[in-house]
Amino acid sequence: MKASWRTILLWALPALVIGFFLWQGSFAPNPATMGKNTASTRMTYGRFLEYLDANRVKSVDLYDGGRTAIVEAVDPELDNRLQRLRVDLPSSAPELITRMRDDGINLDSHPTRNDGAVWGLLGNLVFPVLLLGGLFFLFRRSGNVPGGPGQAMSFGKSRARFQMEAKTGVMFDDVAGIEEAKEELQEVVTFLKKPERFTAVGARIPKGVLLVGPPGTGKTLLAKAIAGEAGVPFFSISGSEFVEMFVGVGASRVRDLFKKAKENAPCIIFIDEIDAVGRQRGAGIGGGNDEREQTLNQLLTEMDGFEGNTGIIIIAATNRADVLDSALLRPGRFDRQVTVDVPDIKGRLEILNVHARNKKIAPEVSLDAIARRTPGFSGADLANLLNEAAILTARRRKEAITILEIDDAVDRVVAGMEGTPLVDSKNKRLIAYHEIGHAIIGTLVKAHDPVQKVTLVPRGQAQGLTWFTPSEDQGLISRAQILARITALWAVEPPKK
Ligand code: ADP
Repeated sequence: MKASWRTILLWALPALVIGFFLWQGSFAPNPATMGKNTASTRMTYGRFLEYLDANRVKSVDLYDGGRTAIVEAVDPELDNRLQRLRVDLPSSAPELITRMRDDGINLDSHPTRNDGAVWGLLGNLVFPVLLLGGLFFLFRRSGNVPGGPGQAMSFGKSRARFQMEAKTGVMFDDVAGIEEAKEELQEVVTFLKKPERFTAVGARIPKGVLLVGPPGTGKTLLAKAIAGEAGVPFFSISGSEFVEMFVGVGASRVRDLFKKAKENAPCIIFIDEIDAVGRQRGAGIGGGNDEREQTLNQLLTEMDGFEGNTGIIIIAATNRADVLDSALLRPGRFDRQVTVDVPDIKGRLEILNVHARNKKIAPEVSLDAIARRTPGFSGADLANLLNEAAILTARRRKEAITILEIDDAVDRVVAGMEGTPLVDSKNKRLIAYHEIGHAIIGTLVKAHDPVQKVTLVPRGQAQGLTWFTPSEDQGLISRAQILARITALWAVEPPKK
């Protein structure tokens, strides 16, 4: 919207200026044609003298300081009809006036109107005023556009980009399936609630906790739950928000964040994706990144700067603890590391139970079966799965989520959107044989995971799919299982000789 405004203005400005000059040229009053006596026909000075000699001139109105005259003369060739003609007079002909007076011609003189000068002055003023006004307007507008030139003027001020939630409303009950992490962090809640219990015996309260785990496993949720349980405000910012084009902006954001946090202590500061700023310094090709290093240094300084007992606990999340700068991990900073992993079958069931709380699910649906079908799903995947199923239920105008919607939602989350059905053709038959091949071998070979479903409905990249249900989470698999898988794959797609 803002960009289009600028375009309009860029076009409108020259158009306005040109329009003004055109208008001035065509409509602005011309002294020669002003007044009640106007005449369109022009007569030469010589002819005027001839008319005078022939006594045909009746009256002369002088304009423009005597330089223009509107002459009324009779024309004998046209039945002595009165004609009105315009004559340009030479400036130095004083004897002409005497002669006309002597001839008894009706003489009149009209003062010069000064409008021309006024209009000229205005014309000269309008252009620069319009130009300056337009430029000012453009400059002001571009100042509002993120990343526009106006931004450069205010970079030092670093608008804080963190969010603050006075009450997160999340409790430990809302986080499921990651019991070890929860237990570890339970203590942090006690630090925040009853710090005196620790300080009384001389214990130093930890400043930072690093949550390490793949995306969607509930790290943010866990941090919010700590704040919720302890009843303290929750400040959150993403590591990537610190890193800016200008050196020093990130550092000033860190300062802002800690300043605000100190005002609101006790509180939790949550830094997501800390690897964006906390990467090993000086590593990588092409040397260091000044801005990132300064930001990290500022973060380290701030963490050292406040005493452990101020009640600020920093929780950072990453899925790449290995790339973090060792200075961040040393005691006194993020000295506690808590691993948050993808849940096992029991964890998945608990997470499903948490997210099924506010959904209407048909009684015959077994959450246990869903947990079994979804190995490798993170907490976020499971939440998404139930939400997709609920959306499908609403779309199908059903009362409660049934197993059909759950099935469709799992298929959708795992394999992607449903494609257009295949048309009956040789290709469809071949795909059917191919999928049945997978299914038969999967059923006949004992060590293979049982077949759950065979389908010819295309999803994502695949035109047909055979689904297997692993009976349990598989960290390690046996030789027999590997052989069974190879058999199923080989039987359908024998190696080309
Ligand atoms: P991360 O920060 O690890 O990327 P989030 O905490 O942002 O993941 O998780 C996203 C969403 O997934 C949460 O809001 C929650 O709805 C759901 N979720 C993830 N893990 C869990 C869990 N352990 N228990 C309950 N819900 C979870």
